[in-house]
Amino acid sequence: MNTLLSIEGLQTKFKTYAGEVHAVRDVNLTVREGECLAIVGESGSGKSVTMLSVMRLLAKNARIEGKAIFGGVDLLSLPEREMRKIRGRDIAMVFQDPMTGLNPTLTVGLQLREGMMQHLGLTRAEADKRAIELLNLVGVPAPERRLRQYPHEFSGGMRQRVMIAIALACNPRLIIADEPTTALDVTIQAQILDLLKRLKKEFNASIIMITHNLGVVAGMADRVAVMYGGRVAEVGTVNEIFEQPKHPYTWALLRAVPRLDRSRTRLEAIAGSPPNMLQPPPGCPFHPRCAYAMNVCAAEAPQMTDLSREHRAACWLLHPDAPPVSFDQEVRK
Ligand code: SF4
Ligand code: MG
Repeated sequence: MNTLLSIEGLQTKFKTYAGEVHAVRDVNLTVREGECLAIVGESGSGKSVTMLSVMRLLAKNARIEGKAIFGGVDLLSLPEREMRKIRGRDIAMVFQDPMTGLNPTLTVGLQLREGMMQHLGLTRAEADKRAIELLNLVGVPAPERRLRQYPHEFSGGMRQRVMIAIALACNPRLIIADEPTTALDVTIQAQILDLLKRLKKEFNASIIMITHNLGVVAGMADRVAVMYGGRVAEVGTVNEIFEQPKHPYTWALLRAVPRLDRSRTRLEAIAGSPPNMLQPPPGCPFHPRCAYAMNVCAAEAPQMTDLSREHRAACWLLHPDAPPVSFDQEVRK
């Protein structure tokens, strides 16, 4: 599979009155054609900021360094005019709350047609026809009537379907979905995830799925990146992350996922709180919450260790001199 997007050495800092916030630290990630990469972590881990940096949708107080190579061009050095063409046409975004992504004062039909007329040069009639096809595809009943309605006339789940239809309108090569199901109830969540899964197959689009819930990605992602404190803690195939996770933070996330195949249902919240990004802890950002922290963890940040072709993790436990601790011993007992 060819690489579609390659994020290299990404750093994002915000200047605030309280000081500088280093929200993304040396993030390296790739997304291949037709694959789903999930980015998982608690709020404040840097997962949304990473993708908003790549899309250049952050406020003016953000300073971004590094590269984001998409189809051979570095998005971070494109003129804004070129970037505007890429947003919506080549890369589409679906947000958590579709109300923020939809304009409440415009009909759904107009919002669906807009991108197709602007980016694909379709006439109004052509765009209308395709809008109806798209609403059908994402499971919005009575699309002809629905096109004339406003966002508030749709339920939360239906609004999310409309957002997905808008995202698909220009046949994007990459869809970035940021917590697309978080605001929805469990049944609707499952339906939206199924829909995204089906669309990924049918359109062969790549998907970056941002979520705080590792459980959401099991049936959908090809690879998973776990972020903590603005860094990538671990990345690997979905099997590697679920079956042989190496980072204690990934273990903690897994313990918070309900599993049917466990005799004891032990759902644990992760103790402690995410780091204050104004004054992040020295060393490994997870050390104040990590049950396995050693002296070195508070002194120096761990390097990324390659574990397989796809699997990498940044943890001192992977150092040859570290005591042997494994997920099976510690978590599956
Ligand atoms: Fe825990 Fe140390 Fe690994 Fe960080 S580097 S996750 S503190 S063991
Ligand atoms: Mg977020």
